[in-house]
Amino acid sequence: MAELQLTGLAPRAALRAVRQALEQADVPDAAFDARELYRLAVGKDPRLDISPLTAEEAASLAALTARRAGREPLQYIAGQWDFLDFTLAVGPGVLCPRADTEVVCEAAVKLLQASGNPTPTVLDLCAGTGCLGLGIKRFVPGARVTCWEKSPEALAYLRRNARQALPGAEVAVREGDVLTDWQTLPPESADLIVSNPPYLTGAEMQALMPETAREPAMALDGGADGLVFYRCLTGPWKQILRPGGWLVLEIGYEQREAVLALGAENGWVNGSCRQDYGGNDRAVLLQKPRNRE
Ligand code: GLN
Repeated sequence: MAELQLTGLAPRAALRAVRQALEQADVPDAAFDARELYRLAVGKDPRLDISPLTAEEAASLAALTARRAGREPLQYIAGQWDFLDFTLAVGPGVLCPRADTEVVCEAAVKLLQASGNPTPTVLDLCAGTGCLGLGIKRFVPGARVTCWEKSPEALAYLRRNARQALPGAEVAVREGDVLTDWQTLPPESADLIVSNPPYLTGAEMQALMPETAREPAMALDGGADGLVFYRCLTGPWKQILRPGGWLVLEIGYEQREAVLALGAENGWVNGSCRQDYGGNDRAVLLQKPRNRE
């Protein structure tokens, strides 16, 4: 892409040029992204700004536009992204927090609030930025939350978010591999497990959007059928939950039946599914039977 020449342009004209450059690069939602890039480069909302761009602002906006036109995720360019009502550090090496995931967090929070236990023990497995574990801590402040993550690059963001995203709130971070580390925990020690595991199938991994291809494969690749992590989470992790405890899982939009079936095979009860705000199946909830059930 030729470098955009934006110096001296009025905000609206600059915005239009950025949007057109993004459209030419097939960026979805080019108008939204153009406004975000303007805000990042100029520090003002383009719809409220009236001053023509200085040379410095123009150079910065042109550079950000070139990165986005190269299909770098907007979240990586911004370096931070909102989830629910707080902000997370994000960048190359960690999965971007997505609005789709908010419904998973809300489902877990509702279960915890209904449980009547103000200090539940919660595990967020495959935590990435920590959006789920931190979201639970945000709305259930007494929860004892531990976020687990395997990737060293993702752990750097997770540790930073655990310190900074919710000032004053303490969330533990553990480096570990979800596929084996259930062996390190005492049985029946958790009240709720939440996870947004890697769940894309082999075929989906071959057909990623350019932005998703820049995100870590480790956070996306759920094995040939996409279900490797669900087998482990509904299998051996079950013994880590206390009877009556809940497993709350983000799923791909076509995985509801497969994950509910894994739950039934492994003896979970009260399986259900919630949709995200785009109307897609997104969260599966499974309960470990109480002893008398
Ligand atoms: N929702 C992501 C996507 O479709 C996948 C996230 C995951 O595998 N946990 O790009």
